[in-house]
Amino acid sequence: MKIAVVGTGYVGLVSGACLAEFGHRVVCMDKLAERIDFLRQGSIPIYEPGLDDLVARNVEQGRLSFTTDLAEAMADARAIFVAVGTPSVRRGNGYADLSYVYQAAEEIAANLVQDYTVVIDKSTVPVGTARQVQRLIAKANPRAVFDMVSNPEFLREGAAISDFMRPDRVVVGSGSQRAFDVMREIYNPLYLNGTPIVETTLETAELIKYAANAFLAVKISFINEMANLCEAVGADVKPLAKAVGLDGRIGGKFLHPGPGYGGSCFPKDTLALLRIAQEHGSTSRLVEAAVEVNAAQKGRMIKKIRDALGGSEAGKTIGVLGLTFKPETDDLREAPALTILPALSEKGAALQVHDPQGMREAAKIMPECRYLDDPYAVATGADALILMTEWNQYRALDLQRLRELMAQPLFIDLRNVYEPVMMREAGFTYIGVGRLQGA
Ligand code: NAD
Repeated sequence: MKIAVVGTGYVGLVSGACLAEFGHRVVCMDKLAERIDFLRQGSIPIYEPGLDDLVARNVEQGRLSFTTDLAEAMADARAIFVAVGTPSVRRGNGYADLSYVYQAAEEIAANLVQDYTVVIDKSTVPVGTARQVQRLIAKANPRAVFDMVSNPEFLREGAAISDFMRPDRVVVGSGSQRAFDVMREIYNPLYLNGTPIVETTLETAELIKYAANAFLAVKISFINEMANLCEAVGADVKPLAKAVGLDGRIGGKFLHPGPGYGGSCFPKDTLALLRIAQEHGSTSRLVEAAVEVNAAQKGRMIKKIRDALGGSEAGKTIGVLGLTFKPETDDLREAPALTILPALSEKGAALQVHDPQGMREAAKIMPECRYLDDPYAVATGADALILMTEWNQYRALDLQRLRELMAQPLFIDLRNVYEPVMMREAGFTYIGVGRLQGA
């Protein structure tokens, strides 16, 4: 099947490359000429493990191409995926900014000239958006023969390809059997391998995405609260999380305390869910609390660092390992580092930092930091070392070398990568999140 993908960011590019790998002919379209030029030259504009090989293979085999021309992308396409951004409206109280979605819809409407086409919304959008897009296209182009589908994406950055190729489930919302049939053809390899496919209405599909992300955000905020409680009562969150997570009804994933969730999805999607509830005269007090706990957690981390430095970070040199919101991505959107580091620097700390993929982008946002090439350079002369993101390359640091390079052997592990006893034996003052010192 010929498929067009509108928006070639994290989701559009990964989806396009994976759909090509399934055997479809895919044209990825984006308005950013720079991005398309880059891709045409064989470069990948984002860091996502395995994506360069996947794209190269499918381009070489003639199944994947890139364009800035929507008419070219849509020619003969039976399915058009919309994967444009839906950020929070700036100072908009959490509302999702749908301007990119509606603009894409207008442009798609103008180019819907061929036979029956399925327009598939892959972006995360508030309930009712797909139906609104349907109305908008029908009004702009009354002759268009099309159906609307909501097919939210659940991939995680850093594991995006395997998440797309081997998802826990695929959600397809529509009011049309003909559209469901096209979706089955698109996802045929997943139907064949028994992947659960949830077919439902447009509105339910849209809400499923927000509900899933909100649940995960609640889970993270819950374990962060438990970590804080552990610190208050003198308990250890690591065995607590393990034991709690071993209950099959709870599950051990997403029970790792840390500096709070970030990224391009959870922060904006939880806020959008709250706005959706509010607009419909409903509430979601659990999600409200998760958002509040998450904001407070970043503040707690700043205080934790300040207290460890004797009450003030002024004049101190702080080394920071990791900036991105999680490992294996270059995405810095809403990363806790973007809240925590400026707060420390404002109070007079000198920051020297490292991240395997995030430094180029971070330098634009936080010019006050010194960007260094490796973790040991970051430790040199530091009064404290903060492990902010659990990249694999920070998991087996040469502790003796670190300690010798540092001005003070203070290690603040915001991801609980290391064990308190081992760090104490290596000569560090070690502070984790919710960890018992003797553990
Ligand atoms: P992104 O910002 O990386 O990419 C969006 C792309 O769309 C940009 O390249 C932009 O230039 C392009 N674009 C905007 N308007 C356009 C138009 N009219 N025509 C063509 N291109 C246009 O965004 P993303 O991270 O890929 O997210 C896309 C959507 O998927 C969002 O709704 C997001 O919430 C959702 N989502 C993201 C993830 C993730 O991990 N990033 C996971 C699941 C769902």
